Amino acid sequence: MIQEPHGHEELTPPPGAPPAPARRGGELRERDAMVCRSCGNEERASEGYPCASCGTFVCLMCVFKGVVYCATCAEATAPPESTSRPPTPRLDWPEH
Ligand SMILES: [Zn+2]
Ligand SMILES: [Zn+2]
Repeated sequence: MIQEPHGHEELTPPPGAPPAPARRGGELRERDAMVCRSCGNEERASEGYPCASCGTFVCLMCVFKGVVYCATCAEATAPPESTSRPPTPRLDWPEH
C-alpha cells in the first residue's frame, strides 16, 4: 500500500528571509552578554546598568553591591588614601 503524501509539508522560507539562524552551542548563551567593567564577569547587558561616570557596562550583581562606577572610574573617583571608612552599602535592607 502506498502512503499518500499530505501535500508539500516542506517549510519554505519566504523570499528575502534570511536562513534559519544556526544555533551554536558552547559560545555565548546570551546574545547580550557583556563583560562587567567592575568585576569582570560576563553578565547580561539587559540586566546591568551603565557606569554612572563613563556609561560602560556594570553588571547587576555589582549594582546590588552598591557599585555604580566601573573599575576605572571607581579608581579615578575614589581617593586612594581614604580606606579608613568601610564602604557603606547604598541599599538599606530592612531587617526582618
Ligand atoms: Zn560586575
Ligand atoms: Zn566608568
